[in-house]
Amino acid sequence: MEKKLPISNEELSKIIEKHPTPFHLYDEKAIINNVRQLQSAFSWNKGFREYFAVKATPNPFILKILQKEGCGADCSSLAELLLSEQSSIIGEEIMFTSNDTPAVEFVKAKELGATINLDDISHISFLEKACGIPELISFRYNPGKLRKGNFIIGNPEESKYGFTRDQIFEGFKIVRDKGAKRFGIHTFVASNELDPDFFVETANMLFNLAIELKNEIGIELEFVNMSGGIGIPYKLDQKPVDLEYIGRNVQKLYNEMIISNNLHPVKIFMECGRMITGPYGYLVSRVLHIKNIYKTYVGLDACMTNLMRPALYGAYHHITVVDKENEACNQVYDVTGSLCENNDKFAIDRKLPKIDIGDIVVIHDAGAHGHAMGFNYNGKLKSAELLLRKNGAVLEIRRAETIEDHFATLNFRGLDTFAA
Ligand SMILES: *Cc1c(COP(=O)(O)O)cnc(C)c1O
Repeated sequence: MEKKLPISNEELSKIIEKHPTPFHLYDEKAIINNVRQLQSAFSWNKGFREYFAVKATPNPFILKILQKEGCGADCSSLAELLLSEQSSIIGEEIMFTSNDTPAVEFVKAKELGATINLDDISHISFLEKACGIPELISFRYNPGKLRKGNFIIGNPEESKYGFTRDQIFEGFKIVRDKGAKRFGIHTFVASNELDPDFFVETANMLFNLAIELKNEIGIELEFVNMSGGIGIPYKLDQKPVDLEYIGRNVQKLYNEMIISNNLHPVKIFMECGRMITGPYGYLVSRVLHIKNIYKTYVGLDACMTNLMRPALYGAYHHITVVDKENEACNQVYDVTGSLCENNDKFAIDRKLPKIDIGDIVVIHDAGAHGHAMGFNYNGKLKSAELLLRKNGAVLEIRRAETIEDHFATLNFRGLDTFAA
């Protein structure tokens, strides 16, 4: 797969004149086309809904674009609930999937009418005490030994999330006794997974559970939530997940398992984050320094604050150098940020064209879990987020942080009396 910007280099320079680097640039048109493909793959399921995982790109403009396309919001914290509320995404357009949850978050989720997806059987009484058991409730299933996870998320048996199998059955009986009337089930077993069969297998597992819940305790599920985890081709030799294949094969299972067991209709939900916006966000940065010691280092004006994945997981993000796209990649560089942390590197031993100070470097696939993950270590500030509109206009959808933002929680005035 080739990786390039959705605009010409001339257009990019014009943007940079107005918006200093570093910044994230999101491609509205591509995001819309992409989410439509996901929906089209599941159009056979009348209740299908994608709840965009807010944590991937928590910006109200992104949420609005997706809401217009029929998506809901998957929230896992108070801030994400409030962001959805501010974006007029409320009620069952919100899926609240949290863990280790503070009571105020359940209270807010219930107030908004969100679908609450519990992470643990003990949260049933916790939720009841906090705000009562809602009519519609969902549980997160951890299949333990029954499924293998993958690198980022680990194996289910080692994961802190969800109910065991036995707890799912016990939990549904408890909430039914407490007045719940509508039920859903959720699972999240892999992250950044590129094998489409993995998701077909997840549907199989959830449909089986739906059948058993009906047969053993008479619980009829209104939805199964296959959650997120669809991977994206960060590397050039990888291919996007075949959504149509997943849709078609899940439909086959639906016919064989749900329809033939008289469980129809069951809505299928997903909570994809990465695959919705990831490939359509670009981190645009400028080369500040080039240093030659035992290796050659290209120092950018961006750092881990703008994109942590390479430092955090050793993740590959493709890098292109603007105006040098057709030059031979005959140099080897470590591409670094400025944190006092030796792992603050976007790439290690990367073959790139010869780079000069002032060059513009584009880091690809930064549209999900990019800006959002950043931290302020070393007092580094988060960058602006720009939206490339369908009509080619550029809208700043988040300004860059200022040093005042960063110091806002400090009490400098208190120093006077403290030192006196
Ligand atoms: C992170 C997360 C998602 C989204 O995961 P992606 O890998 O971005 O698709 C969905 N649901 C839950 C509960 C999550 O924690």
